[in-house]
Amino acid sequence: MGKFPEADAEIVKIVICRKCKSRNKRTLKKCRKCGSIFMRPKRKDIRIKK
Ligand SMILES: [Zn+2]
Repeated sequence: MGKFPEADAEIVKIVICRKCKSRNKRTLKKCRKCGSIFMRPKRKDIRIKK
């Protein structure tokens, strides 16, 4: 979706911690910073599911 295919490839590998908003690799089950398990994938397009 973005202008840079490389960036898109990176984005899908990244999850964002809901608690501290730090970026983590998708392979991690917990946030490496705060240990929270509440993570969301980083969205490529801004579209909210309801
Ligand atoms: Zn965190």
